[in-house]
Amino acid sequence: MALKMGLGGIALTDHDTIGGNKEFISAGKGKDIVCVPGVEISTDYRGYELHLLGYFVPIDNPELEEELAAFRDERHTRFPKMVQRLRDLGFDIPESDVQRVLRTAASPGRPHLARILVEMGVVTDIDEAFAKYLAEGKPAYVGRERPDIIKGIRRLRDVGAVPVLAHPLHYNDDDLRGVLKILKKAGLTGVEAVYDYERGTNPAEDTRQVQAAAHGLGLIETGGTDFHGDGTHNDIGSMTVSVDVIDELSKAAEEISTR
Ligand SMILES: [Zn+2]
Repeated sequence: MALKMGLGGIALTDHDTIGGNKEFISAGKGKDIVCVPGVEISTDYRGYELHLLGYFVPIDNPELEEELAAFRDERHTRFPKMVQRLRDLGFDIPESDVQRVLRTAASPGRPHLARILVEMGVVTDIDEAFAKYLAEGKPAYVGRERPDIIKGIRRLRDVGAVPVLAHPLHYNDDDLRGVLKILKKAGLTGVEAVYDYERGTNPAEDTRQVQAAAHGLGLIETGGTDFHGDGTHNDIGSMTVSVDVIDELSKAAEEISTR
């Protein structure tokens, strides 16, 4: 797909797993495209969920994969807790639906519950399910235990990966520059500057904002589409950065590994 679009490089950054990288890298072998193995980890920063990208993660590291698996399992324990909250609120969530989600979804979460509530006719759509019950601060919301972002940054460097802060404008922090400074000190190497937050509204302005916040901090500016293949995120290749960024990341990975 990426090759046909004329991309010179592509990175795979699955949520909380490095499991797909082996296949991804071997699929790109011998083709005229640079494939960068990666991961995206949900981390905690002072109570907020920040996403941390790790570029050039080792494609095979059972220890790291086990740690990531623990976070994924955490989603499995959180899901039944939210089901219980909804039942306590008087909604008769069918156990068969709960079991089906737990069996089939890699990361059971609020979207699955929202869909069940729509199917039950409790709400008319997914947005309403979030607004009334599932959003932070609403009665069925259960917070996630997330690893601290500073620890995440160190852990990624430990395995020779390049830590990059993903989609920083998602976090509604007035002081992005201050946050970047703190994280940079902890070892953050890059920030995702090119990202389309509103799906085409004004990506250039978003990028400019991030670049201004990161100005002079010596962070590599990356970009991404956050392509999920689910139609709710941007399409693959719709947001691109220069292939030079891959070189910068690769050099950084080398430096981190030989340090
Ligand atoms: Zn993310």
